[in-house]
Amino acid sequence: MSKSSTTPNWLDPKNLQNIKLCKNRYTKERGHPVLLLISCSVCKTPVMLYQKDGKGKLLRTYLDRILAPNSLTTLLKQCNFAQKNKQMQLKCPKCNQTIGLPMIYQPENRPAFRMIYGSFSRKIIKK
Ligand SMILES: [Zn+2]
Repeated sequence: MSKSSTTPNWLDPKNLQNIKLCKNRYTKERGHPVLLLISCSVCKTPVMLYQKDGKGKLLRTYLDRILAPNSLTTLLKQCNFAQKNKQMQLKCPKCNQTIGLPMIYQPENRPAFRMIYGSFSRKIIKK
């Protein structure tokens, strides 16, 4: 299998160079941001690029911190996200394993995926 068939466009080094980590009140509260690549734990397929603010476990991925792919970054604009329907689950694009479940993080009223422990791996791409 060639590398290009499994590596999505959004993981292209040129694309990665252009990604800028955002700093706002959430980074102020939580700590220095890092760029993470989240992959499926079963088939290792890349699922998303995510900006995590501060250290610690990845319990939630906030929609406003998902940087790629476009199919996920546009979710924030969909008003039915919070209705917890199955279409809004975060799934591996290849093996369809469920990786996250839609939720609203109430203290900040922020839409997010509740990440399912063991369903994904994380790798630091940029600090
Ligand atoms: Zn998978």
